[in-house]
Amino acid sequence: MAAWQEWLEKSDARIRLVAPDSDEAALAEVMLTWNPPAGLIVSLPRLKGVISLGHGVDHLLQDRDFPANLIVVRLVDPYMCEAMAEWVLLALLQQHRDASAYMAAESRREWINLAPKIAGEHTVAVMGLGAIGVQVAQLVARFGFRVLGWSRSQKAIENITSLTGEDGFGQCLAEADYVVSVLPLTSSTRDIYSADAFARMKQGCYFINCGRGLQVDEDALLAAVDSGQLSGAALDVFRVEPLPRDHPFWSHPRIQVWPHIAAQTHPGQTAGQVADAIAAIHAGKPPANRVDRAQGY
Ligand code: NDP
Repeated sequence: MAAWQEWLEKSDARIRLVAPDSDEAALAEVMLTWNPPAGLIVSLPRLKGVISLGHGVDHLLQDRDFPANLIVVRLVDPYMCEAMAEWVLLALLQQHRDASAYMAAESRREWINLAPKIAGEHTVAVMGLGAIGVQVAQLVARFGFRVLGWSRSQKAIENITSLTGEDGFGQCLAEADYVVSVLPLTSSTRDIYSADAFARMKQGCYFINCGRGLQVDEDALLAAVDSGQLSGAALDVFRVEPLPRDHPFWSHPRIQVWPHIAAQTHPGQTAGQVADAIAAIHAGKPPANRVDRAQGY
């Protein structure tokens, strides 16, 4: 809270943060939050809007008591978008360049030589072409991969084939050597990576997920990797976080576990847009990056 106060003051000296358990919280018009305890939002009578201190809002909207009239704003942070694209590239290139095979050979002091792969002969499907997905898709395309992008609405992005709907989803699964998911969690995307979806992926496909864990049937993913249907997975998000210590993903040789750090919020990068959103909500004007409550993102 102290860090946010310091950064927000630099943008708008009128902003004063108060702790949610203080008496003054009853006067608050706007809440800055990531994952508030159940019941807190409804307990604040003057609240007009909630600002999620991250790109996602699924954790807020899943609260059944979340008042329908509240404005919800999310961050759209260029630094986070870049960080997400970097993480995807890292996971993708590690697999594409057989890093785990070479590192295993190194540990055996073996000088091995695997067949080279050509990026242009490999297809990457980026599921979700929003603020983050577009950056991911463009970065991957710059490395020479063929890129498909899946979203609800049709896009026109250079070097990216835009696909939509059920047919587009099926085409992505069928054609991609790498399925990269950066979808928001909504009622339409929950459990979208089911046993059926993994079965429809190209054999040997590599799955990279930094969207949300609740989009994935983890048992089905494990079975798909074990059977060889998928060559492996790099995961930054899980159904339960932190990932329980006895979860089979931890010790699986072809599944990478990352502790939800593909991108992290930095107050210094986003205080300006948070201050602008607070001012807009206070003035009764429409803030930027307002979440469509009906769509859930
Ligand atoms: P956006 O809202 O900007 O983009 C979402 C994209 O998903 C849009 O292209 C949208 O389509 C598409 N989409 C949504 N629902 C569907 C659907 N049912 N079918 C097809 N496409 C769909 O989100 P961001 O890019 O900012 O963030 C995406 C997610 O990344 C966040 O919600 C969060 O879950 C995750 N995230 C993870 C982080 C991490 O550290 N692992 C950090 C930050 C975010 P359209 O363009 O047509 O609307």
